[in-house]
Amino acid sequence: MAARVTEPTKAPLRNVTPSAYRGVAVSTVDCALDEASLSRHFIGLEAYRRTRFIVVRNGSDTAIVAVEKASEDPLFSPITGLRLLAGAAECAYLVEPEVDTAVPTALAQAARNHAPDKRGVVVQGRYSHVSFIVDPAPLRVTVREVVPPYPPKLLDQTRRVLGLAEHLPPIVLVPDVVELDQLARSRPSAGYLLPCRGGGVSIEDATTDYLDEHPDRRPWTLIGCERSQQIHEWFYGERAEQVDFCPRKRPGGTGATLAKCCLLETRIEVDDARVVVPWGASLAQISEALTMLAAEWEPTWAPV
Ligand SMILES: [Zn+2]
Repeated sequence: MAARVTEPTKAPLRNVTPSAYRGVAVSTVDCALDEASLSRHFIGLEAYRRTRFIVVRNGSDTAIVAVEKASEDPLFSPITGLRLLAGAAECAYLVEPEVDTAVPTALAQAARNHAPDKRGVVVQGRYSHVSFIVDPAPLRVTVREVVPPYPPKLLDQTRRVLGLAEHLPPIVLVPDVVELDQLARSRPSAGYLLPCRGGGVSIEDATTDYLDEHPDRRPWTLIGCERSQQIHEWFYGERAEQVDFCPRKRPGGTGATLAKCCLLETRIEVDDARVVVPWGASLAQISEALTMLAAEWEPTWAPV
């Protein structure tokens, strides 16, 4: 008796986005937007050599198809195969002139904001470029930060990096932001010592001193990181009562996490699948950190 061979199940693709907008053509047809009708319409027609996807429109209906061509060498080549990626019932066409369609996170954001119930979302965005995303499922990245200053710096920088990130899968940020005065209230004291006056924080009903001003020693609780504690020890010859706010040490959270640590000055570290950047991380370092997180948590993602 022949053994039964089981096909390995392929994980369903998600976050499908074209690698470059030039692979996407837009075409208006009169036929129905199902795979058979579209195959009859397109197979045999010539397509530009870089065309790999066609956004097909019929009135207000939209479908997304992938096409194969006889060759990619000549400038134009006949279409030899067609696959429906998202049919009219599950597809939306958005006109969003502010969205950079080369950025997967921006595509996923537009899809979530304007067509959350559709599998396929076509976006006509900035420069009138057209691209799409099928089955958006952005990677959730928790960003750990402490405020003030406002806006939360690491969170804000990460948002700015994502706004330009053509190379990353769609990512949605989950803020995990702790406030200094909240931390202070967790440890009642007559006086607090904060790392610097720059943040503009003072704690109600308590004296507030700032370590960067090297104040005269008095009883206080340090609301700060280990680096501040080391500076305290340097200044005053002893460690202080402390509430440690280092985002790296904050308990909880299991998924993709981006945190910063007071003790890292130039390096990025991977800590149990979480990425830790220096306190004063540059945008380039944050981009590198997000690339590491994507490789760890979405290893199979690549634009198609
Ligand atoms: Zn730290």
